[in-house]
Order: sequence, then structure tokens, then C-alpha cells
Amino acid sequence: MSSVETVRSLFASRGGANYLGEAVSIATHMLQAGALAQRDSVSPQLVAAALLHDVGHLVASTSAQHDARHEETGAQWLTQLGFPSTVTEAVRLHVAAKRYLCSVEPAYLEALSSASVRSLELQGGAMSAQEATAFAELEHAAAAVAVRRWDDAAKDPTASVPAFDAFVPVLESVLR
Ligand code: FE
Repeated sequence: MSSVETVRSLFASRGGANYLGEAVSIATHMLQAGALAQRDSVSPQLVAAALLHDVGHLVASTSAQHDARHEETGAQWLTQLGFPSTVTEAVRLHVAAKRYLCSVEPAYLEALSSASVRSLELQGGAMSAQEATAFAELEHAAAAVAVRRWDDAAKDPTASVPAFDAFVPVLESVLR
């Protein structure tokens, strides 16, 4: 099976799981994040990272109810499939990006969904000023922050989301 087919079958088989107390399924959430990235006319790598940021929830276990370092699981799984670091590192850092934004933008923390506030504690809470400075210097920090903002915006149960097939050309271009 090609890497794109592997991702497609994961979305189809496990994507219907509820997204950690949000009003959308994990697949809907990720498709919505990918569509928001695409709307912002960013690189295909960033669109792919937005689309795939939570695959760790799908591959980790059948229970998506605990957080279980899904960003690491997802980044490793995507690396095995041949995705470049511009995709995998944005996925790996998207939880750190949340802890970063909570530290540097008070308004960000206030706007988080209640489920996201609950998981924040599990994820280590807001970064210290020192941690935030170190994070901002990472090569893929800006990409991870961008993914994080689409992630947070992609929880609208009323939005119409594209089908997985709409992203196949993007994924193929990134894997080439
Ligand atoms: Fe997410």
C-alpha cells in the first residue's frame, strides 16, 4: 500500500472516533485543519502537517481518551511513511506550540476550548519564559505554531469539510 493509501485507510477506519471531548470526530477535525491551512495558501508541507497533526491519536490505540504523547506517536508514524521533517517536526511540536502560545499570549489561553484547557495540564502546562525562548529558536517553531492555530480553529461542527481525496495531490507532492 502506498503511504497515501495507508493514511487514507487510517482516516477511514479510526477517524470517526470522538475528538477528546470536542464536538467533531478526529477525522473531521483534521480535514478541517487541513482546509484552513489550504485557505491560507501556505506550502503543501504545512497543509499536510495541519491535515495530519493528530494522526497519533489514531495510531496510538483504539482509545483516544487519554493524550499519551500523540504528537510523538504521530511524528514517528509519518516519518516511517516517508514524510519530510517539514511535516513531521510541525506535528511533533504542535503540543509544545500550545504550551508556548499559552506562555506568550494571555489571550490565547483564554480562548482555548475547555477540553484543550483540561489536556494542557497533562501536557505540562504553559511554558516558562525560558522554555518559550528556547522553543521560539527551534527550526520548525513557526510551522508548529501555524499548525496549532488551525488545530484550535478546526473544531466547528457546522463547517463543511472537504473529503480526504481533496488532499491526495498535496500529500503526493510532499512525498515525492
Ligand atoms: Fe488537534
